[in-house]
Amino acid sequence: MEYTTLVAVYNRLSATDATGEKRAILADVFADAGGALPRLVVLVWGRLGPAYDRPELGVSSSLALEAVCRATGAAKSAVRERWRETGDLGSAAAWAAEHGGQQTLFAESLTVDRVHERLREVATFAGEGSRTRRVDAVAGLVADADPDEACYVVRTVLGHVRVGVGEGLIRDALADAFLDGSDAAVAAIESAYQVTSDYPLVAERAREAGLDGVQALDISLGRPVRAMLAAKAASLDAGLSSAAGPDDRIHCEYKYDGVRVQLHVDDEIRVFTRRLADVTAQFPDVVRAVERGIEGPAILDGEVVGYDPATLGGDAAARAPVPFQELSTRVKRERGVERVAAEVPVVFHAFDYLYNGATLLDRPLADRLDRLESRLTPISPRPAGDPAVAGLELATAARTSADDPDPAAALYRAALETGHEGLVLKDPTAPYTPGRRVGRLLKLKPTMEPLDLVVTRAKYSEGRRSGLLGRLSLACRDEAASEAGDPALREVGRLSTGYTDDELAALTDRLEARVVARDGRAVDLQPGVVLEVEYEEIQRSDAYDSGYALRFPRFLGTRADLGLADVDTLARVEHLYESQ
Ligand code: AMP
Repeated sequence: MEYTTLVAVYNRLSATDATGEKRAILADVFADAGGALPRLVVLVWGRLGPAYDRPELGVSSSLALEAVCRATGAAKSAVRERWRETGDLGSAAAWAAEHGGQQTLFAESLTVDRVHERLREVATFAGEGSRTRRVDAVAGLVADADPDEACYVVRTVLGHVRVGVGEGLIRDALADAFLDGSDAAVAAIESAYQVTSDYPLVAERAREAGLDGVQALDISLGRPVRAMLAAKAASLDAGLSSAAGPDDRIHCEYKYDGVRVQLHVDDEIRVFTRRLADVTAQFPDVVRAVERGIEGPAILDGEVVGYDPATLGGDAAARAPVPFQELSTRVKRERGVERVAAEVPVVFHAFDYLYNGATLLDRPLADRLDRLESRLTPISPRPAGDPAVAGLELATAARTSADDPDPAAALYRAALETGHEGLVLKDPTAPYTPGRRVGRLLKLKPTMEPLDLVVTRAKYSEGRRSGLLGRLSLACRDEAASEAGDPALREVGRLSTGYTDDELAALTDRLEARVVARDGRAVDLQPGVVLEVEYEEIQRSDAYDSGYALRFPRFLGTRADLGLADVDTLARVEHLYESQ
């Protein structure tokens, strides 16, 4: 297909904002595409491959600008000026192709295949001289382009064709082009896409084998499925009742705050993120753990969490997770991966099993997890002191029923106490539904508006943190009972989670300076240290003199900038209680 034919489609698409019209244009194009179909379904979307295959071209806008000037003979300042005016380097390239003054006497006309292949090739250029080769390749295409073609070549290079086509439109247009366009047809395309992440494949299957063919598409090694997503639970009780399966059973797990990854295990092991990027090269330590802990074929879903190396070695509960930000930099890293892996050891916490040579997506969760448990050999992080190997474990979990919330509450507390984010509640009878946020997977974390509260009493911790003041009684201000300069304080809860060792050590120093009385491990304090605290909900309670208790409170930070007069009031606590 000539590239100019595709450019005409881009122009028609960008000439209308009406979704229905765009859908009709695309459906016609797909229906008539012939052998170009797999390429067209990604190029209209500004991509060069299926959703899980996004080659990194390494072409920045300034490199593209250089290529445009080289190819067209236009002055850089003039092209830059057009770029600034329109905010679009593609339009500036079109202007340059028209006014640049370069003669393209022997131009070879562009075809869709040539543009696509050449740009994919650019992504493979590496090492010395690769920058020049990239400029040459883009300039070579622009040199053979007419102004409109130059515009779309440049936009495609930059990954954004600006014609208002997204995943949803492609889905709808495929349903029109090859199926009957009904809601059921759209849903079938959607499901096939969620499970394959591959529009070229879905499009060809729809054309060749119709609805049955589309419905037969399934999970496969090397092609990540869309991750099943969690809905939010307003509270533990609400989450338990939503997640309960028909037999009232609930599967509860730690909610880890790390990087969601899907592991594809075969002779080769591949690691994909939730956004379907292949990050195998960024997680060699995880690959080594998988080599030891599970044999292929298998596809696993789970979360990679980084841990403070000083806390490894003993009980898993004593490990301190590092904040997500410390691990997230690893995902994009190209150099020094092994060094970073040695600095921040990780554990892959497996929480689902999607494939064992055959699909497991339709099996109940409890069955998938039983199979996973019998298949996986846990690997502790840095086995035998080897810093190059990650940990591999099942997610910490408990099973309970809707009428017995205690095990879930205990697991929630343990998750927060060990520094994890919260709890995930799952229906043990539910299938794995790729890409969907359904009510059978719920997440729970302390999320109410934070409060600024003052520490009135504290208690030394036991175990690893025994030198530190860990259990902190928190109070709000009762304005009605306060006298000028002498605020009445009312306790609303006890805090024992959310801080790192360093934060707790700093806090202990500040609190010890305010001790007014000691009784064994407990101390009374001159109030003055204000903390920001989050929690899951506020309950009525006789346990504290405010009449309220924060449920699952969690430390967010010390507010050294606040004094007693800034502490939140009992009236605000009451108001928050009423409004939840
Ligand atoms: P959120 O990112 O807040 O929408 O929460 C959903 C995310 O929690 C998922 O995408 C996972 O990355 C993460 N997660 C952590 N632990 C679990 C678990 N045990 N089961 C499922 N998802 C989990």
